[in-house]
Amino acid sequence: LLASDGTVAPTIFAEMSAAAARTGAINLGQGFPDEDGPAEVLEAARDAIARGANQYPPGRGIPDLLAAISEHQRRFYGLDVDPEREVIVTAGATEALTSTLLALIDGPDDEVVVFEPYYDSYAAAVALAGARLRTVPLRAPDFQPDLDRLAAAVTDRTRIILVNDPHNPTGAVFDRAVLAEVVRLAELHDAIIVTDEVYEHLAFHAPHTPIATLPGAGARTLTISSAGKTFSTTGWKIGWVHGPAELITAVLTVKQYLTYVNGSPFQPAVAAGLRLSDEFFTEAATTLATKHEILGAGLRAAGFTVFAPQGGYFTVADASPLGGADAAQFCRELPERAGVVAIPLTAFVSESRRGDYAGLVRFAACKRVPVLEEAASRLASSF
Ligand code: PMP
Ligand code: GLN
Repeated sequence: LLASDGTVAPTIFAEMSAAAARTGAINLGQGFPDEDGPAEVLEAARDAIARGANQYPPGRGIPDLLAAISEHQRRFYGLDVDPEREVIVTAGATEALTSTLLALIDGPDDEVVVFEPYYDSYAAAVALAGARLRTVPLRAPDFQPDLDRLAAAVTDRTRIILVNDPHNPTGAVFDRAVLAEVVRLAELHDAIIVTDEVYEHLAFHAPHTPIATLPGAGARTLTISSAGKTFSTTGWKIGWVHGPAELITAVLTVKQYLTYVNGSPFQPAVAAGLRLSDEFFTEAATTLATKHEILGAGLRAAGFTVFAPQGGYFTVADASPLGGADAAQFCRELPERAGVVAIPLTAFVSESRRGDYAGLVRFAACKRVPVLEEAASRLASSF
């Protein structure tokens, strides 16, 4: 994780946001909204601070948030989650994921199977946990995995199958057949499924299907989510993980020594958010879908080949038609050349697979419409 000069290498997101700040470019790199989320949620955090919710909360999370997560899983998915034993609050999905891997990996022979490209913290967390990463490629245009390759990757060495659905960076929402195959393979090889569903409310064409709702999955699945994307509060870092009580206990033993507890005034605010009306959640998805359409049209007009996403913050486009066959180089030049920041997909793949994703670029759509339009017009006039 160190740079060649021995300093800490910044993540790709930090590097690209710094490039945006330096050049004044529009930042479609790091995925964070440029508008505040629901006023009720923000108000609830202010109220909580005024009420004195400023000291350590309970280790598992405040009871009101645990109850709200349980209610949310029942209301949207029909899942039964015991708020006292089967869920804990974490410092974002990132900590949920890292503590889960640290808790469940036994040793260097354990393998974690992930789809590739993958969110950057996955490989780092697998390395911290001392396990081996096995990847299954997702290829354009639809970024669904080949089921035979998935089956070949899962063996008796597989401790965890780690799924992210809707998927960052590709925008894929996995077909039910893919999720069912993950469950079948996990049962066959006695593996645990860890599923990162931070974009659960940002699926555009159909309601999100948590893998834990599939037959046989609940007993071996840890489901992770976060308030960051759903309520546009990425800086609050309130996430959670739920699943069978004994697995949650294992995760809690690690979490308590990573951050101990987190975010007391934000926890009641997220509880309020999870209880917002159905309309709020539906609108979040439709608003973002519209933004993707605007971004996608702009990218096409500029000459990119666009792979329309089915969910999440990001649209992937091929820059090869614009001479961007080396997307890493293309993205390095883009702030100066076009006043736009984006991230090459090579940032989300292992070194040996970089060639397969060489021309692909990730653009964040979670920005105000005029910002997306300005970015599109800058791109159109720069190539
Ligand atoms: N998983 C995925 C797929 C993400 O895109 C993100 C946010 N970039 C995270 C996890 C991290 O979420 P949090 O900020 O809640 O830690
Ligand atoms: N999840 C966001 C992204 O993929 C932000 C990640 C980060 O800043 N670590 O861009």
